[in-house]
Amino acid sequence: MSESSPSYLSELVGVFGFPVAENPTIIMQEAAFRAAGLNWRYLNIEVRPEQLPDAVTGLRAFNMRGINLTIPHKVAVIPLLDGLSPEAALMGAVNTVVARDGKLVGNNTDGKGFLWSLRQDAGIDPAGKEVVFLGAGGAARAMSVELALAGASRITIVNRSAERGQSLVELLNAKTPTSADFVLWSEPYRTPDDTDILVNATSIGLFPDISAMPEVDLSSIRPDLLVCDVIPNPPHTAFLREAKARGARTLDGLGMLVGQGAIGFEMWTGVEAPVAVMRAALEEVFG
Ligand code: NDP
Repeated sequence: MSESSPSYLSELVGVFGFPVAENPTIIMQEAAFRAAGLNWRYLNIEVRPEQLPDAVTGLRAFNMRGINLTIPHKVAVIPLLDGLSPEAALMGAVNTVVARDGKLVGNNTDGKGFLWSLRQDAGIDPAGKEVVFLGAGGAARAMSVELALAGASRITIVNRSAERGQSLVELLNAKTPTSADFVLWSEPYRTPDDTDILVNATSIGLFPDISAMPEVDLSSIRPDLLVCDVIPNPPHTAFLREAKARGARTLDGLGMLVGQGAIGFEMWTGVEAPVAVMRAALEEVFG
């Protein structure tokens, strides 16, 4: 073939999950590839838990440029990779794999996506801030570790199950510069007066359960508080609506999803992510 011959070879990335059919990241990444003029494709690939090792071998065989991992593969993928970023090693979970020079390296962009949205969408730097997370699952773990590394002065983890909450607090105190404490969530949570940022990092309020709200004493939500929600669908959760009604500033979960997608896009392609296009594509999906 001469140098000017067209290439019909696409670069491949995607997501391994089970189930994965409804994962909307494809819409955002494909819109970004089109906007950037890249011949790349993003695929939703259903991988059963027992087939993850074969799927990772396939990733290498197809010379794919990387992959996102979603439930139930974020932890199980780790022994199948060639290396981990320091943050992914700290969190013990991977959501973005980058293939480079024949090696698969695992990263975690969930927390970085939140940090990005906090800075870009809300204009807030977490350094020196007092932050409360409702929840201690994978999302809370990724977000709290990133905020701790970014200099948050104090992090409180409020969780229904003590074991999960305490193990996250132990990780934050042992491996990051922040000071963390745990509150057992057994009654409506009263946000302390010195809190700067309150984050719902639970799955409460996710579609189709859109009227559900985390149990928070709404009288403790003040106008000088930033209230965030991880739920991307719907972006305008009942919790954020109540917070807004009390005068608080709010940050929705769509920004975090765009942020982590944009970071993944840049890691894979080396091209600046068209974030406005990515957000518009997701807004169309979530209405
Ligand atoms: P996990 O299953 O790992 O954790 C769920 C957390 O929610 C746990 O702390 C759990 O508490 C708590 N929880 C769930 N139901 C209740 C309830 N009824 N009452 C009190 N606590 C409850 O999920 P993830 O952390 O992975 O995901 C959480 C949410 O974050 C999901 O909705 C997901 O869509 C969203 N997310 C958004 C992203 C974005 O980019 N916007 C990125 C990643 C996730 P317990 O430990 O006691 O069970």
